[in-house]
Amino acid sequence: MQTTIRSAISFDGIGLHSGRPARLTIRPAVAHRGIWFKRTDVDLGDTMIPARWDAVVRSPLCTLIQNRAGVSVSTVEHVMAALAGCGVHNALVEIDGPEAPILDGSSVPFVRGILDAGLRVQGAPVRAIEILKPVTVETNGGWARLSPSKTGQGLDMVFRIDFADRAIGVQEKRLNLANGTFVRELSDCRTFCRASDVDAMQKAGKALGGTYENAVVVDGDKVLSPGGFRHADEAVRHKMLDALGDLALAGAPILGLYEGHKAGHAMTNALLHALFEDADAWRIVECDTATAATLPGAGVVQDEIPAVA
Ligand SMILES: [Zn+2]
Repeated sequence: MQTTIRSAISFDGIGLHSGRPARLTIRPAVAHRGIWFKRTDVDLGDTMIPARWDAVVRSPLCTLIQNRAGVSVSTVEHVMAALAGCGVHNALVEIDGPEAPILDGSSVPFVRGILDAGLRVQGAPVRAIEILKPVTVETNGGWARLSPSKTGQGLDMVFRIDFADRAIGVQEKRLNLANGTFVRELSDCRTFCRASDVDAMQKAGKALGGTYENAVVVDGDKVLSPGGFRHADEAVRHKMLDALGDLALAGAPILGLYEGHKAGHAMTNALLHALFEDADAWRIVECDTATAATLPGAGVVQDEIPAVA
């Protein structure tokens, strides 16, 4: 069955790129509503922004969604991953500024808040998107692909990254997202960047809210953020967290295999465009109990939220 959050929960922080303070509040929504964002600081016109793949506009470093009136909100991927990973299908996400708060750079504060508030089961079955044939997008040596499930267990992910910085290097990870995997294995993994990119980003007006605490900063073989990585392969895990958040913009859980090779936000969004352009590549299925039990939000246990400093 579809779920929503039981009661409203708020998060205060600053935007990673804007550096501006922001309060994000997740509120319950009715069945079949999906996830919507609302800009509470905008008075005029349409302030509702659908959390959908076709509302994404080009943004190299984060996922930015915009409605037809030009009202936008950026860096939605970590809260989207938390909602998908906790199995929240319907919610209204209010934000009083142009960018979601980055908090600790991972999804774990959102997960903790969502599970503390609790979930309410709604009287409608979950609809999922079943992948029927492979769809691939490629750019600059990277690629991303969705293909039919080989396991029949909800969503499988394989991700590979390859960074010149030895602190990251080559990392590959394969995970099935059933049984609370997202919360246990991915939710505490923080965004990361290279020290050499920070200056360029800040000159371009990005990463103005970035700190050594809300992003893992690496320089060659050194990790500049105090305490280092939370997992030896935290970087690839964060890319999987981002991918789950970006895939959630499909509007329904995906049943299939996602593979990302040096992929990022733009490529995962291009992949959803390619998928939905090909009517033979997918179909909507109503989940029976067995299928619903394989979705990323099934089997989530509050005790399994990673303890982080
Ligand atoms: Zn991210």
